[in-house]
Amino acid sequence: MDKVVNSKRSRTKSAGSSLVNRPSRAEAEAAVRTLIRWAGDDPDREGLRATPMRVVRAYEEWFAGYNDDPREYLKRTFEETGGYDEVVVLRDIRFESHCEHHIAPIIGRVHVGYLPRNRVVGISKLARLVEVYARRLQIQEKMTAEIAACLDAVLKPHGVAVVTEATHQCMTTRGVHKTGVTMVTSRMLGVFRDHAETRQEFLSAIGMRGAIHVANGSA
Ligand SMILES: [Zn+2]
Repeated sequence: MDKVVNSKRSRTKSAGSSLVNRPSRAEAEAAVRTLIRWAGDDPDREGLRATPMRVVRAYEEWFAGYNDDPREYLKRTFEETGGYDEVVVLRDIRFESHCEHHIAPIIGRVHVGYLPRNRVVGISKLARLVEVYARRLQIQEKMTAEIAACLDAVLKPHGVAVVTEATHQCMTTRGVHKTGVTMVTSRMLGVFRDHAETRQEFLSAIGMRGAIHVANGSA
């Protein structure tokens, strides 16, 4: 992890531009103790004694995306593209996120495509972009749209396509207990939205030819 939450900082820039009042580390650990008691166990027994500390540290890693501005990762672009004017696709970017309704893991893959307008971005930066949004409390639809909007705003390409496939543990381990269910969301902007051919080119590159019908930009 390249960034660690500074526990002394009580106010921090959050997902939007709104400021969130962060509790102290001790308050966060106390909250975990409460949840352990709520589950029916004793937070003072040996096996659980260090758990609040570990959970709070895990939160720092899972939710590190609140400390990063995803646009920063896309700022360094390359303009020497050798006249390359075809679609760029990065597929199977694995991610782990947490649903904002149950704080349960969402695990899946994101496929990102764009049609550059003079400049391209390093592929590792696309993966970073996905990671920043994944490391926040999310719903899959919002994450898919945010990744697309950020790429579109910073790179100003001819178009952006993002498809996310994921399983939601709030659905597999609780509630309806349905395993093997994958949710697919997509956001198509610019040429990917307007030109069926360009969209199909992207979908076949990610192995989903014809799988997504774009009516309003999401599937
Ligand atoms: Zn959920």
